[in-house]
Amino acid sequence: MAGYSRDIERQNQALQNILDGGKPEKRIFITKEDLEYKKRQKRKTEEERERINRKFEATKEARMPWFCPKCDKVMKKRLDDKMWFLHDHCFDCQLKKEHKMRVDGTYDEWKEKKIVADKLAWIRDQKIMIKEFKEQDTPEFYQQFRPDGHSVDREKWNIDKTTLIEQADEALEFLEKMEDSLK
Ligand SMILES: [Zn+2]
Repeated sequence: MAGYSRDIERQNQALQNILDGGKPEKRIFITKEDLEYKKRQKRKTEEERERINRKFEATKEARMPWFCPKCDKVMKKRLDDKMWFLHDHCFDCQLKKEHKMRVDGTYDEWKEKKIVADKLAWIRDQKIMIKEFKEQDTPEFYQQFRPDGHSVDREKWNIDKTTLIEQADEALEFLEKMEDSLK
């Protein structure tokens, strides 16, 4: 089964990329019957992003103080609210903090933790994708590897659903192990 081994190879490559701290290749799952799937997914993602933004706006209104709790400066820069939301102080304070960490040699450790957090977030996304993939009726792969960054090529799959489910479960199990090892 050529498709099977090729997929394993890509999966290993993707996981290796993550372990190296890089970005995995893009992979899009869609069903044969539903070519509108990608569009719907995009709309769903946009809606979700909007929802988060709305929530963020609401939270910010309710919770962000006028002055930075650390340096007492007025928080008015565009990036101040994002920084406040993430780090509980203003953008300048975050720059100072990162500079100080570079000077006293703790930056790398902090950065490493941040990379781990990003990896965990990526694993969470992958798990959601695989779970959605499992729920589809006739899965089909569209692989995005052309240099234009958006064209997709259809891959032929001669594997029955059971094998795919098994493979998805294996991937899920692997992701869970990876998740545990990072925690
Ligand atoms: Zn500040």
